[in-house]
Amino acid sequence: MRISARALALRRVPFRDDSWIVTLVTPKHGVVSAMARGARLGGRDGIRGALTGFHTLLIEIRARAPDALGTLMRAEILESRNHLPFLPDASAAGQLLLEAVHRLEMPYDAGDGAIFECLDSALQALERGADPLAVAAGSISRLLGLFGHGWRAGDCVGCGSRSRLRFISVKRGGAVCEACGAPYADRLPKAGEAIFAAMADRSWPPRLSGLSREEMFFFYRLGMEALNRIGPRPMSGDLSFQQLARV
Ligand SMILES: [Zn+2]
Repeated sequence: MRISARALALRRVPFRDDSWIVTLVTPKHGVVSAMARGARLGGRDGIRGALTGFHTLLIEIRARAPDALGTLMRAEILESRNHLPFLPDASAAGQLLLEAVHRLEMPYDAGDGAIFECLDSALQALERGADPLAVAAGSISRLLGLFGHGWRAGDCVGCGSRSRLRFISVKRGGAVCEACGAPYADRLPKAGEAIFAAMADRSWPPRLSGLSREEMFFFYRLGMEALNRIGPRPMSGDLSFQQLARV
């Protein structure tokens, strides 16, 4: 088996003294793992540098069998992102997005490349100096949708009513109307129209311009709570991002 594809490195786990097992996301093959032999000591052709940044890579993996762990034969930088590692809040946002994609289970229809493209363009926006909070909030919402955990924002998850939407249930994944939410009003987050519009927005990049900074942070928190519900443990990059982005 041979995979040759564009890729983004999601995670590296040390293996023996000199190698990594790397997890990458690709447009057609979804998330794949491979052994990067010798990469921790530099490896061939600067493979270490390629795997440690936020760069878009061109990779080649070879494996003896389709379900065997392959070997990363090549990882070249296709599009370098050299500013990002030096922007603390932007790189914390980038790390958070890599963690989110690593955490979520690839859907069966992941092969259309939308998840890869979403992550790739979000990292590119961060590299170019876009507001890390806006990129994090918008990308997490978009990624949740692509992974099948999208918000139901247009009507109440309890009764289907389209009017008097007041609250959000992260557990149920969407809007809750005034009547259904009343018994839980002390627990359910309250949201305004701008938030419901942002939740319903499936465009990319998301149009968050209608949101204040507080609303953007609220939107970010919703996404983070949804991610925390899906994984076995809380998102590790959440707190450091909040501190660095001073939100
Ligand atoms: Zn309702």
